[in-house]
Amino acid sequence: MTNSNSDAPKLGEFELIARLFAPLAAHIPGALGLTDDAGLIVPSPGHDLVVTVDALVEGVHFLAADPPGDIARKSLRVNLSDLAAKGARPRAYLLALSLAPWVNDAWLAAFADGFAQDQARYGIGLLGGDTTATPGPLTLSITALGEVESGRMIRRAGAQAGDRVFVSGTVGDSGAGLAILKGEGTALEETTRAALVARYRLPEPRLALGAALAGLATAALDVSDGLIADLGHLAKASGVRIVVDAPLIPLSPGTRALWGEGREAVIRAAIAGDDYEIAFTAPASRESAIREAARASGVPVHAIGRAETGAGVVLRDENGQDIPLSRTGFTHF
Ligand SMILES: [Mg+2]
Repeated sequence: MTNSNSDAPKLGEFELIARLFAPLAAHIPGALGLTDDAGLIVPSPGHDLVVTVDALVEGVHFLAADPPGDIARKSLRVNLSDLAAKGARPRAYLLALSLAPWVNDAWLAAFADGFAQDQARYGIGLLGGDTTATPGPLTLSITALGEVESGRMIRRAGAQAGDRVFVSGTVGDSGAGLAILKGEGTALEETTRAALVARYRLPEPRLALGAALAGLATAALDVSDGLIADLGHLAKASGVRIVVDAPLIPLSPGTRALWGEGREAVIRAAIAGDDYEIAFTAPASRESAIREAARASGVPVHAIGRAETGAGVVLRDENGQDIPLSRTGFTHF
């Protein structure tokens, strides 16, 4: 990492970091071996750089007892999910770490290995970073850099009245996985339980689908706070009202096994967060192109509603009645 570590008490740890993290930058020429004050990145001709950052805090986003490789991979993947929702292809990332006193060499090695695995999976590398020590909780911040053809980043603003609303994959699996970790679903088959917990621990950023949606979707975001809450963000940015038909929200067989077939299961799924699916809007005339993008990327896409004139987001039942929601999704404050 670059070297503002003068406040660090454990020099051995920082030598170890240099040994663990420099290899993650080896294939990124602009990282300059993590020995300079800054890294360098040149976008491909005719492309814009797309930049996103997420901070994760021990006790809020992960626990000290979680597998360190999973912490690394999830923190990287939630950033890649933001790039996916913007139609961008990932290029590189930067990592800022504030190490808690309990961190040891074995933890750091497993943490770095998590990044190595996902770098290989997604074809990216470490462009730069910074490390400090803190007496408080472990904190990490990842900045991901991607690129998209100039002018084609899919924004939250852009949905038009009359557009259809779509979501990729299935909704609620991550929330179901978290519920299982908290003690629900003890009677479920172990494979079902494990699959749902995996969706919580390691989201899969929809990068191929997102890239294919650039030029098709009028607005998009990734579902992190919860489907309804996030569609509310999109509605606000676009200046439209979004109507979601509850029966059309796609739930996996595993989530249905846990939460049942009824309306309550759909509501729970629609307000659970951490799905990291892409919710987006597009005119009905592009629906066949969207189906083709879904097929080519191997990720199903479901039409779940429509944008109208007005504001806000509403969930409708099978009879067209509004379903009142006491909360729409996760919020930090
Ligand atoms: Mg997002």
